[in-house]
Amino acid sequence: MISDLVIIGGGASGFMGAITAINSGLRSVVILEGTSKVLEKVRISGGGRCNLTNSCCEISNLVNNYPRGEKQLIGLFNRFSTTQAFDWFEKKGLSLKIEKDGRVFPSSDSSEEVVKCLTSVAKRSGVKIFTNSHVKQISKINEGFNLLVKGKNSYETKNVLICTGGHPSGRRLAKSLGHSIVKPVPSLFSFSSSENSLRTCSGITLNVQIKLTVNKKRFTETGPVLITHKGFSGPVILRLSAFGARNLNANKYNGELRINWLCINEDEARLKIDLYKLENGKKLVFNNKPFPKIPRSLWKALLSSLNIDTKLKWSDISKFEKESLVKSLIMKKYLINSRGPFGEEFVTAGGVSLKEINFKTMESKLCKGLFFAGEVLDIDGVTGGFNFQHCWTSGWVAGNSFV
Ligand SMILES: Cc1cc2nc3c(=O)[nH]c(=O)nc-3n(C[C@H](O)[C@H](O)[C@H](O)COP(=O)(O)OP(=O)(O)OC[C@H]3O[C@@H](n4cnc5c(N)ncnc54)[C@H](O)[C@@H]3O)c2cc1C
Repeated sequence: MISDLVIIGGGASGFMGAITAINSGLRSVVILEGTSKVLEKVRISGGGRCNLTNSCCEISNLVNNYPRGEKQLIGLFNRFSTTQAFDWFEKKGLSLKIEKDGRVFPSSDSSEEVVKCLTSVAKRSGVKIFTNSHVKQISKINEGFNLLVKGKNSYETKNVLICTGGHPSGRRLAKSLGHSIVKPVPSLFSFSSSENSLRTCSGITLNVQIKLTVNKKRFTETGPVLITHKGFSGPVILRLSAFGARNLNANKYNGELRINWLCINEDEARLKIDLYKLENGKKLVFNNKPFPKIPRSLWKALLSSLNIDTKLKWSDISKFEKESLVKSLIMKKYLINSRGPFGEEFVTAGGVSLKEINFKTMESKLCKGLFFAGEVLDIDGVTGGFNFQHCWTSGWVAGNSFV
């Protein structure tokens, strides 16, 4: 029997596509999952808690969280955005909570609940799910497509929705049907630096402004940085790694960071130092700081890197030393020279070229009956639930294209 729709890949976008398609009236919807378990990334996501969306609901702000796909997502989010995703899960019986920073998690803090919700809704709706069914090959036949499954029979289907995430096989299948692929590169990673001056500060998290320059291209972000024993991580770094993903890859992950540790300008820093100096002239510079926000170990590390004498008193600080300190606090330079370990998340930037997709339906412009959703496309977001949101949205739009 020929199916109405076969979905390749049992991840977030595949399940959303399948459930929406069957509930919109398709009679036979099948998910073919290559591994032995569906929704594995949902299970491990968000440190086992699954940050499944974000409370950011203003579409013009929401799309700023997508280094790739920003333009195409405007139309998609106008149809199914964060609010709709939130309501969708709650209506399916999954209770959600919003954390202070806007990230949305299941109230139980367990990603297993998201997996249970999606699998039980899919099964109840009549979606057929086959695991250990890796699709090797796809070919166009008169009525639709023929899919060759590793070690198994082939499937015939009128429509195909490719939801293979960052896995290379999905890009290969798309290519075999004429699609072009934007070179995949990693996104959402930390930075390694061979500089030693901050070794004593590992573990410190601080709100900073960072300018990343990669081969003359500059990216600026503000937010929490985490100093690690090998370099830098934390939300602001992951965001920079996402927006700079292509440039960093092209430059072999070499770049220059300028960190403003205080998030104020040079004049404000100078003024604060001058006022502090007036009242604390007899105190040691090393042990007494005008900036309560700066942790003690970081203050000492910055002073040591300037070779400031540990016995220096505020009243004796020279103009040169003061200016060097201001520069260190406001625009200290650190060189990065490789990609560090991934943060909590990791996604692939790149994938099926967006030029070849009709974003009203998620259907290929090159091959009728072929659809795409999720990370297999050249769309990716920063951390905060934005990657899953794009999967729910594109899966939902694809699933609704058969009405
Ligand atoms: C550790 C980690 C934590 C994360 N945490 C978060 C988070 O908290 N919030 C967030 O928004 N994002 C998070 N992400 C990103 C998010 O997981 C992905 O963006 C999302 O899972 C992509 O969904 P998808 O449906 O496109 O693909 P996937 O979830 O990757 O699913 C694709 C599925 O297709 C299957 N497949 C591949 N090729 C074939 C084939 N040829 N035949 C059959 N099956 C195939 C794969 O086995 C897989 O099951 C995290 C990522 C990682 C790695």
